[in-house]
Amino acid sequence: MEDISDKRFKVVIVGSGPAGLTAALYAARADLSPLVLEGPEPGGQLTTTTDVENFPGYPEGVLGPKMMEDFKAQAARFGADVRYGTVENIDFSKRPFKLNVDDEYDVFADSIIVSTGASAKWLGLPSEQRLRGRGVTACATCDGAFFRNQHVIVIGGGDTAMEEATFLTRYASKVTIIHRRDEFRASKAMQNRVFGNEKIEIMWDSTLEEVLGEQVVDGVKIKNVKNGEITTLSDVTGVFLAIGHKPNTDLFKDVLKMDDVGYIITDGKSTHTNMEGIFACGDAQDSVYRQAVTAAGTGCMAAMDAERWLESQHEA
Ligand code: NDP
Repeated sequence: MEDISDKRFKVVIVGSGPAGLTAALYAARADLSPLVLEGPEPGGQLTTTTDVENFPGYPEGVLGPKMMEDFKAQAARFGADVRYGTVENIDFSKRPFKLNVDDEYDVFADSIIVSTGASAKWLGLPSEQRLRGRGVTACATCDGAFFRNQHVIVIGGGDTAMEEATFLTRYASKVTIIHRRDEFRASKAMQNRVFGNEKIEIMWDSTLEEVLGEQVVDGVKIKNVKNGEITTLSDVTGVFLAIGHKPNTDLFKDVLKMDDVGYIITDGKSTHTNMEGIFACGDAQDSVYRQAVTAAGTGCMAAMDAERWLESQHEA
């Protein structure tokens, strides 16, 4: 593999989910020879899911890791240099930007595309982590359809929990929301939809104590935080976490404009950030849709924006 220490690239893409690899495909096809630094989770969140059934073009569905391999191969075919490495810090003070990779070497970038994604928050229980992708998931849109006529639980009390619980009733025979307090923080309209749905039950003042099962989920233990009582729900096969997401944008704090949670704010309809030469796409700037297909769409936009911006620099 070529030594790229101190090499200057027209475009460096930070992150390798659907947004980053789509940006790489477009940038490569525009002859920009982009470098993609994959980050700590090459392929992004989809590599932790199993079947993906909602990405257009795969009528039979596709495994998340396989799909991301395909994205990578397609970008590489046109000359994108996709390599393992995490950007540790960036010198934003002058262009080309200097990016340090793995505390080992630097590369220089005329433009940067930020596609660092977001991570679902997890409770951190060992049993939850062990059964991730085997019945424990953080995406109802992705995985809901696998739980037809089954009993599933949703953890959380915000808008996402309400939305996911309501959505899951299309498939599941029963949805139980587990919430740690005795009231939801979700908007009243979303709460009312939940209260009016006879398939949804709520366990207030409750937390997930343990997910049961060896290979797949076959029950959960729920703790009542007021009296310490443990209830086992032995028919539960699906556990949906909806306790929020965290965008992976710490690297850009104090430099790029962000909202309170850390989602990068882009300029209206484009992917331009507040800093010239830096573009953001995918979940790092999207708290609303968070889908592979929308991330890929904004990745395409970022590459086109970067290409035009680079051209404008050339002309200036
Ligand atoms: P929120 O941060 O709003 O809610 C997270 C929920 O998870 C809270 O109820 C919180 O409990 C609970 N929670 C957090 N950590 C833990 C934990 N460790 N153990 C147990 N429970 C926990 O996140 P959302 O993803 O729901 O929403 C994010 C943003 O996106 C919000 O602004 C929301 O309004 C918006 N959104 C809008 C939608 C829409 O308009 N259609 C749909 C989805 C999201 P507690 O309440 O006790 O803090």
